[in-house]
Amino acid sequence: MSITLHGVAVGGGIAIGRAYLISRSMDDVAHYLLAEEDVPAELARFDEAIRTTRKELEMLWGSIPENAPTELGAFLSLHIMLLGDATLSRDPCDIIEQQHCNAEWALKLQCDQLVEQFDAIEEDYLRERKQDVLQVVERIFKNLNGDELPLPSGSDSLDDQILVAHDLSPADMVYFKDANFAAFITDVGGATSHTAILGRSLDLPSVIALHRSRQLIRETEWIVVDGQQGVVVINPDELVLREYRLRQRAWRDARRKLVSIRKSDAKTQDGTPVELLANIELPQDVEDVRKSGAMGVGLFRSEFLFLGRDTLPDENEQYEAYRRVAESMKGLPVTIRTMDLGADKSPKWLNHTVAENPALGLTGIRLCLAEPLMFRVQLRALLRASMHGKIQVLFPMLNSLSELKQALAQFQYAKQELQDENIHYAADIQLGAMIEIPSAALVVASFTKHVDFLSIGTNDLIQYTLAIDRNDDSVSHLYDPVHPAVLKLISHTIKVADKAGLPVSICGEMAGDARLTRLLLGMGLRKFSMHPAKLLEVKQQMLNTHLDKISALSTRILKSEDPDKIAEWLQQLNNSE
Ligand code: PEP
Ligand code: MG
Repeated sequence: MSITLHGVAVGGGIAIGRAYLISRSMDDVAHYLLAEEDVPAELARFDEAIRTTRKELEMLWGSIPENAPTELGAFLSLHIMLLGDATLSRDPCDIIEQQHCNAEWALKLQCDQLVEQFDAIEEDYLRERKQDVLQVVERIFKNLNGDELPLPSGSDSLDDQILVAHDLSPADMVYFKDANFAAFITDVGGATSHTAILGRSLDLPSVIALHRSRQLIRETEWIVVDGQQGVVVINPDELVLREYRLRQRAWRDARRKLVSIRKSDAKTQDGTPVELLANIELPQDVEDVRKSGAMGVGLFRSEFLFLGRDTLPDENEQYEAYRRVAESMKGLPVTIRTMDLGADKSPKWLNHTVAENPALGLTGIRLCLAEPLMFRVQLRALLRASMHGKIQVLFPMLNSLSELKQALAQFQYAKQELQDENIHYAADIQLGAMIEIPSAALVVASFTKHVDFLSIGTNDLIQYTLAIDRNDDSVSHLYDPVHPAVLKLISHTIKVADKAGLPVSICGEMAGDARLTRLLLGMGLRKFSMHPAKLLEVKQQMLNTHLDKISALSTRILKSEDPDKIAEWLQQLNNSE
């Protein structure tokens, strides 16, 4: 019998293959009691498993392939650190000694306790590190049983094998990458989980948060993974298989062709130039930006420099990071967003109490204005780095003109300080405002006199317009980028920017979704900033678009308030010549 599951789409593309199951469930851990004289041997078995696990992780850390995602090293270090913590590596021994129970059970008790502590954490990013604890524990379990790593190595061709896991650890990913699986699916993982982050950078068909796939799928069963729609079909019938094979072939052909357009000019069929830029999180991501052929960095999420550490980075450390990106982009624009902290990105060093509703709390520019000294340090670092490339500064989460004016005043203040200290900065730094709260979109005309450019953050704009938490997969089916209200706010912002002669970009995920490229072009957008892996797909769609031919249908979509009609016309728009 064929079963269809729906999850969160992480990586594009389609894979058809046989299931390769890994990882075991933590729910059925054996529990038995030991005779007094067997306790020392059990302790030795546990210590040996810890030693082997440490060796494995260190070996993996030392053999990270050059082309592996940059996050991998950090995740592996985190796993090594978790393993070194007494809660996992020492305390189970006390339990074995006191309760005379088997090592697996002692480890499970410790793991449950840690999981409970992580579950109580308010901040999303830290709470999701629970998965890292579970991944480390699973690895110890395997070694307690003397199992080999579950992933095959060597020359096995796994092109048609699909990895099915309850969860995948970064360490598994090293093998995964080498072993050439066709796709992966997992039961858990929120939009900001490590699995999702890595999946996106690996750029393979992948679907996460499927909840029961590990339970429903049997070894070697045929499955289809549709990483575009977030759909998994178990045991597909002939008709479904045929349909997906066609779509898969089309997807593979299209990917092959894409590389050839890397260097071609970014313009529509009728010759209208379009700027394609890249989003980055850390300075080392610029390597991917250059490979993608992007014309600059449209969004550097600077707050990632402030996360996962105990102290605030000082002015020099920040300056070095911004300077590195500016220099590597060799004169191409680098738009650095001032720290957008708070909500799901709360660093340890920020001693603010956790808000009742963090997404509506002290985030983005609000936090910076509440902490002017901290903000000034970043502005000074940005100004100093502007001597090494074309840095532009973007203010996030603005809500009104008064907030924008306060941010600009802080920028002016930082300039004055540097001048007084005889420290140089570029005279012509462009300043921009992010439009990602509906109120800002509605009063955007008031911003235009005060900034040099605008950038629409559609991820938050959708969240706040539709009242849908962007991180909550239980409402992700309602998170609709083409909701008429969202389209109206975007369109209004583009029109106001055009009228004022200001460049405007989209830097949210919508810019990297090729299904929306024509619609956005039809709405007048000429600047897109996205994850580097998405750039060529969007470029291809743009090269295939003649603006005159999409204008009528785009206007019709924009005027409609009926989601069904919008969906139908959007499809027509994308299917048209
Ligand atoms: C957005 O909200 O669209 C955006 C680009 O910012 P972030 O995703 O970092 O909130
Ligand atoms: Mg945002």
